Amino acid sequence: MSIAENYKIVQKKINEALLMSDDPEKSIEIIAVTKTIPIIQMKDALEVGLYQFGENKAQEITEKIKLMDDRVKWHMIGHLQRNKVKYIVDKVALIHSVDSISLFNEINRRGEKFNRNIDCLIQVNVSGEDTKFGISPEDLNDMIINTEAMKNVNIKGLMTMAPHYDDPEKTRDCFKKLNELYHHYKEKQYSWTNFQIMSMGMSNDYEIAIQEGSNMIRIGSALFGERNYG
Ligand SMILES: *Cc1c(COP(=O)(O)O)cnc(C)c1O
Repeated sequence: MSIAENYKIVQKKINEALLMSDDPEKSIEIIAVTKTIPIIQMKDALEVGLYQFGENKAQEITEKIKLMDDRVKWHMIGHLQRNKVKYIVDKVALIHSVDSISLFNEINRRGEKFNRNIDCLIQVNVSGEDTKFGISPEDLNDMIINTEAMKNVNIKGLMTMAPHYDDPEKTRDCFKKLNELYHHYKEKQYSWTNFQIMSMGMSNDYEIAIQEGSNMIRIGSALFGERNYG
């Protein structure tokens, strides 16, 4: 199926999921996950109105950026190594995957050099699965407190990845927990944070994530078909 057809299906499912959420009027931002996807398909995506692209490797972003036009907003969604921060920090709209204070430090330092405030989400490992990156919910408060003096990072919310289940219903608890954490920190109103974004939901589970409060989903295969890692 074409990207246009897939996108229509996704939009329909988003609208249905919104009706089952607490806030059916809110808008959902779609991050089209383009890791391993060739430029030609990314241009098709741009044609149908998708313009926010998520990548999980710094190098893939820096290579693709030269081949796409500046309508595109790039999102770093994968694990980011400190030594790669300098390559992407001035090029991305949002880093979804900050999970340590040392990474925040490096982002802040590089942001200062570029004279830019870098929008970030904190990746939380809600499920406790040890294969997943992200900080534990218990460590979240300390981490946020430790960013107070960092003038060039802007914490805009939280991100999580649910474990993969064949039955997406099983992800619901994980998304519920992120939603609770998100509202907890949004209401705390730490003055140096600006909670607006809850990034959760992938191709297999975005409907559940939206029902549970997500306002930003990261979907790849639902738009582009199965990835070929060749
Ligand atoms: C690959 C990836 C996605 C998208 O996965 P799909 O199952 O293709 O939708 C979302 N988030 C992250 C962090 C990813 O690495």
